[in-house]
Amino acid sequence: MSNKEKNLILVLKALTFAAEKHRHQRQDDAAASPYINHPIALVNLLIEVGVTDSKVISAALLHDTLEDTDTTYAELKIHFGKKISDIVWEVTDDKSLTDAERRRIQIAHAKTASKHAKLVKLADKTCNLRDIIKTPPVGWDIKRQRDYFYWAQEVIDALRGVHKKLEKAFDKAYALRP
Ligand code: ZN
Repeated sequence: MSNKEKNLILVLKALTFAAEKHRHQRQDDAAASPYINHPIALVNLLIEVGVTDSKVISAALLHDTLEDTDTTYAELKIHFGKKISDIVWEVTDDKSLTDAERRRIQIAHAKTASKHAKLVKLADKTCNLRDIIKTPPVGWDIKRQRDYFYWAQEVIDALRGVHKKLEKAFDKAYALRP
C-alpha cells in the first residue's frame, strides 16, 4: 500500500470511529443536526485553507471524542497511535472543572500547545463561531453569544502565528459577531 492510500484509510477510520462514538448526539442548534457534522465542518475548513496532513485531519475528526463520549485516551492510542491521540488530548477540556476554570485553562493551554493542536483549535473555534452566526444554539441569548465570541478570540489570540489563512478565516467569522 502506498503512503497516500494509508493516509486515506487512516482518515476514513477516524471518520468511522467518530461517527460511531457520536451516533446518539445532536448539535444544540434548532435543527438538532447530527453531531458528526461538526467534526466534518472542521475538516472542510482545514482542507479549504490548505491543511491536508492526515494526522491533523484525523485528529480534527476525533477532536470531541474524549470530551463528549465514553472514548478513552488508551482506546484512541490503540486505533490511531500516540501522535493523533496526543493532539486530541491537547484540545480536550477537563469536564470536572467549572466553566470559568475551563475557559481560563483553554487560554493558557493555547499558548503552549503543539502546532497540530493549534490548527485543530483554530478550526474548532472558527466553526463554532460560524455555527453561532448561522444557527445559534437553542436558549443562547445575544449576551451569551457575544461572550462566546470574546472568549474564543482570547483563546485564538494566545496561539496566533501558526497559520495565516486559518487565522484569517477565524477573523472573518469573528467580524460577523452578534
Ligand atoms: Zn468541537
